[in-house]
Amino acid sequence: MHKLLLALVAALIVAAVVLFVFNRKSIAPDKAPGEIANNASPKPVSEPLPINEAKAVDLTYSFDESTIYWPTAKPFTWEKEAWGKSAGGYWYTAARYAASEHGGTHLDAPVHFGEGKAAMDELSLQRLIAPAVVVDVRKACEQDSDYRVTPDDLMAWEKDYGKIPEGALVLAHTGWGQFWPDKKRYLGTDKAGDVANLHFPGFSRAAAEWLVSQRKIDAVGIDTPSIDHGPTKDFIVHQVLNGANVYALENVAHLERVPPTGAMIIALPMKIKGGTGGPVRIIALLP
Ligand SMILES: [Zn+2]
Repeated sequence: MHKLLLALVAALIVAAVVLFVFNRKSIAPDKAPGEIANNASPKPVSEPLPINEAKAVDLTYSFDESTIYWPTAKPFTWEKEAWGKSAGGYWYTAARYAASEHGGTHLDAPVHFGEGKAAMDELSLQRLIAPAVVVDVRKACEQDSDYRVTPDDLMAWEKDYGKIPEGALVLAHTGWGQFWPDKKRYLGTDKAGDVANLHFPGFSRAAAEWLVSQRKIDAVGIDTPSIDHGPTKDFIVHQVLNGANVYALENVAHLERVPPTGAMIIALPMKIKGGTGGPVRIIALLP
């Protein structure tokens, strides 16, 4: 009985925090530049941010020449345009970068496999800030590098932590992050253009259909190159989820640092107008 009471109090506290976070972003009034609300005075710069940095985890890989892209995609390039003392005597640096949309830690917009669905610039902030559900399938993936997350895996999570909340981001933790950035281990192949030898875990069609029909989620994510497992030929998981306007996060880093439940994820992608995907900075705010 005592334990039950404690659990109830804990649940109330979590609910209060979530409500507080969502209220803050939804009621923030639009202000003209420079305008300050009457009741708010400007804060001194030294005051700590409302976000506790000790509880913020970066789930993003850096972009460089070793960043893993799909074997058929153009890799990330970054070239210096100016680097050093300028003619005027001051320090000046600038570079240019180029990359395919779908590589490194990135977001798949629903339009990627869903005709007429949302593009990168059409994803609301409400959808990009979501409670995390982390499903640990590391043991199964150790046995089978082509493993697909099943509805049973999701239901087992619910047995331990309760129903997957509305608007959740469901993340599969396969353990594949340990292989990054070794293409041979992480993708199954290190040859450009080779899509015949891809091996890594993903979601199953049945799990995707269950999430879409039985739960109301905003997104899925995974610590492998794709939410479809390596050998797929039809990308059916992309078809089902993107088709239901669900977006996806791929090559998510450091999932071992996020608990099964209680974390909030902030995933802010590059706002490419009409984009089908692109680089995303993902932060987990731990409970
Ligand atoms: Zn993608």
